[in-house]
Amino acid sequence: MSTPIAQPVRILQLYPNDMNIYGDNGNLQVLKKRLEWRGYDVEVVSYNVGDSLPMQVDIVLGGGGQDSGQAVIHADLLKIKDSIIGWAEDGVPMLAVCGLYQLFGHFFQTSEGARMEGVGIFEAETYATPERLIGNVVARNSQFGDIIGYENHSGQTYLKKGASAFARVIKGAGNNVKDGQEGARFKSTIGTYLHGSLLPKNPAIADFLIETAVTRKYGSFNEKLVDDQVAQQARRIARNRPR
Ligand code: GLN
Repeated sequence: MSTPIAQPVRILQLYPNDMNIYGDNGNLQVLKKRLEWRGYDVEVVSYNVGDSLPMQVDIVLGGGGQDSGQAVIHADLLKIKDSIIGWAEDGVPMLAVCGLYQLFGHFFQTSEGARMEGVGIFEAETYATPERLIGNVVARNSQFGDIIGYENHSGQTYLKKGASAFARVIKGAGNNVKDGQEGARFKSTIGTYLHGSLLPKNPAIADFLIETAVTRKYGSFNEKLVDDQVAQQARRIARNRPR
């Protein structure tokens, strides 16, 4: 590990007790390790229902969850909605996966027809369907190249006019079964259906979140290269997995 630069970076993990399935905690491990490899001190703040929210954060992470997990955190999420929107507008890098991605849109409509109001960062609406979309996914993004992951969701998300998708599906479903879009993007906030977890097999996205956070806070970033041979091997294998 590099000599500490004594520049702390605070990662806020939203609702790990209830929204953290299909390996999503791996995203936190990757960001922490890639920051430490470059000599940064990392502080992880786990925020669960009823906790006090820190005023200052550098990166925000949120994982996926069952419909029941979304119901548990929903009311609390609306209480911190203004802070999340403020961070998104200010360019804080955020990664919201699946269940939290859905709740970063305008609403998630459950299979019973109840609408869970969302934060509204993404111009997106999600509707639960009887068909679960499950399997390996390859999607393509002009900034990060091919994005490799795994999806498992009943909700289908439709981006409204003017909204930006995160990627274009090459293999799998992504947001829904119709438009070939995957995820959503607003400034430095990324929403995606890709679990796996996402970041171990997509180091370019991890470094985007890290570099954006450090540059935003300290004005520059220690671009020390890290050895990504294992990640590249994982990508090669995962990319060729059957749907
Ligand atoms: N409960 C939501 C759905 O099934 C989100 C699932 C998830 O986070 N993997 O669409």
